[in-house]
Amino acid sequence: MNERAAVTAYIGLGANLGDRLEALQRALQALGTMPGCRDVRGSRLYRSAPVDAGGPEYLNAVAQLTTTLTAPDLLRALQALENAAGRQRPYRNAPRTLDLDLLLYGDARIDSPRLSVPHPRMWERAFVLVPLAELAPQRVPASALAAVAGQAIALGP
Ligand code: AMP
Repeated sequence: MNERAAVTAYIGLGANLGDRLEALQRALQALGTMPGCRDVRGSRLYRSAPVDAGGPEYLNAVAQLTTTLTAPDLLRALQALENAAGRQRPYRNAPRTLDLDLLLYGDARIDSPRLSVPHPRMWERAFVLVPLAELAPQRVPASALAAVAGQAIALGP
């Protein structure tokens, strides 16, 4: 039988509605129990202002995991977690109970209508790059961190 190779993937987590801390903690736990996923590590938590939108402050983190799921299957599993957390999509950049983005999937480059990896906007966002650099400094060049150094993010829930 063909076993798929395990890949290290990075997920961006964000919430700015409801109990944000509980949403992120539950999501981190859920990632670890998804079939085909193991060895979940979470970054510290950060607070950031919404980008291109109003509404409450976000709580953000990044998770690293090892997975045998394909990238599209991993995205589907992430979307199922978002929906289970009560995610609604009334308009673009609307406040959200849980947002899960597939940031990196090994070294894969994917550009399909439903999935772009690396996540196209991750390099513009301190609230992604700073926690990602905690878990995987080798994946975040110093120049990328320097480029977002002017963005205000704060540690902690
Ligand atoms: P949102 O949940 O508002 O961040 O956007 C989700 C939409 O972005 C879905 O339609 C996904 O198919 C699409 N998408 C494309 N690339 C990614 C990615 N790397 N991670 C998460 N969603 C993605």
